[in-house]
Amino acid sequence: MFVCQNQPCGARWAPDEVEIHNEGQGPIFRCPLCGARNYLQASKGRGGAITYKQVSREQAGVGKAGNDKAGADKAGAGKAGNDKAGAGKSRGAQRRRG
Ligand SMILES: [Zn+2]
Repeated sequence: MFVCQNQPCGARWAPDEVEIHNEGQGPIFRCPLCGARNYLQASKGRGGAITYKQVSREQAGVGKAGNDKAGADKAGAGKAGNDKAGAGKSRGAQRRRG
């Protein structure tokens, strides 16, 4: 189940209710209701089937790309994980191409 990250919307969608595609920053779906982009992370299951997990913008590593107009609302600043997107050193993290 995916949940639209657009706060006032927050609609829920089953994976087969949305169209997942890739615009170059990883898989996303657009909320059929409000059109907001929602970021996903693809992972391959044992049988080779791709499953998608919803991730936040931060987790998707989007935002450092500059050309992204979005309201400047930082969610949950303060809880710094050791997995900051865009922070230079990421030990053991897989680098995304592109
Ligand atoms: Zn929505």
